[in-house]
Amino acid sequence: MNIHEYQAKELLAKFGAPVPAGHAALTVAEAVEAAKKLPGPLYVVKAQIHAGGRGKGKFKELGPDAKGGVRLARTLEEVEAAAKDMLGNTLVTIQTGPAGKQVNRLYVTDGVDIEKEFYLALLVDRATGRIAIVASTEGGMDIETVAHDTPEKIHTITVDPATGIQPHHGRRVAAALGLSGDLAKQAAKVTGALYKAFLGTDASQIEINPLAIAGGQIQVLDAKVGFDGNALFRHPDLMELRDETEEDPAELEASKYDLAYIKLDGDIGCMVNGAGLAMATMDIIKLNGMFPANFLDVGGGASKEKVTAAFKIILSDPAVKGILVNIFGGIMRCDIIAEGIVAAAKEVNLAVPLVVRLEGTNVQQGKDILASSGLAIVPADDLGDAAKKIVAEVKKVG
Ligand code: GDP
Ligand code: MG
Repeated sequence: MNIHEYQAKELLAKFGAPVPAGHAALTVAEAVEAAKKLPGPLYVVKAQIHAGGRGKGKFKELGPDAKGGVRLARTLEEVEAAAKDMLGNTLVTIQTGPAGKQVNRLYVTDGVDIEKEFYLALLVDRATGRIAIVASTEGGMDIETVAHDTPEKIHTITVDPATGIQPHHGRRVAAALGLSGDLAKQAAKVTGALYKAFLGTDASQIEINPLAIAGGQIQVLDAKVGFDGNALFRHPDLMELRDETEEDPAELEASKYDLAYIKLDGDIGCMVNGAGLAMATMDIIKLNGMFPANFLDVGGGASKEKVTAAFKIILSDPAVKGILVNIFGGIMRCDIIAEGIVAAAKEVNLAVPLVVRLEGTNVQQGKDILASSGLAIVPADDLGDAAKKIVAEVKKVG
């Protein structure tokens, strides 16, 4: 789960990270009120969307010459104008994709004069099984580009979970950023605060880009924080930060039923149990010349309700021209799955071809339920057969 910049900064501040003062706003009037509470005379008005690259982004409605989603304002009038430009409009950045994201919230912060920008991030490094601290002097830029063009400018420091963060980690971060004296001490302190926040919130990622020297102090000017979804039950306070308008509606619906669903670009909707089988199903669809419209793992213990929900989610995607169900009934019985498929297909008035491959416990009962349902369900014997059949059925319809 991801959160907005203003929520991330409020959270990091609680762990001792230095962030400029700021207030969130939902309307133009609130943005002006927010600015009035700040010392001024420089303000920054920032679009709050779950995507980076806002500064260099463009608003669809404003044309190519207008400024992006992070604007400096020197007066309350400029704050007002910036807020009017942004709220309700669609910001397109390198991270949103061409569709962009509608801006519904703003963050008005105290503007600071930046002397230097750095990059500092914490993430889980699977290779070492540790939290890795990534530091670079190349702040404020797209870090993927820095990693590609000048990898020597990216420093990675991992923390042994047995010892936790130690003073030497902070010193190494400061050295990587080329800092000395009091600024080095401040950078080390920020590193410690971010590490504490990472552990304390079960974060999966904390990215500060830029961390800056501003007014002679180290400050967090932008923050992106993501949490490990599997640990969210331990943090009811963090769950409240979820902004459902930022999430894909189908993926949101899927999460309510505990289904793992990811939308993809192809034509064949897939309903599969088990991530491995789901990957194999997607591969074999591609092998037969078409592309999957989604990844959907209904999990090991799916109920009839879950299968029905999964079906509806797949069909809510207008790109879906056919559905392939590929279930291995281990813990889950094939007859239960078949009942779910039949119930769902009747409920949603299935208008696209449906190929079902069942294998495992109670497979014959499952096949019998499908065969006697009166629905145009095409049975398949194995994975290869199923993929061939769904591709053929979709091509038949045209
Ligand atoms: P992003 O484009 O979505 O990553 O948004 P950021 O919050 O990183 O803002 C983009 C850029 O705006 C930063 O890299 C800074 O250069 C600039 N910026 C952000 N806050 C301030 C500020 O308080 N003062 C000044 N002068 N520039 C800022
Ligand atoms: Mg940034």
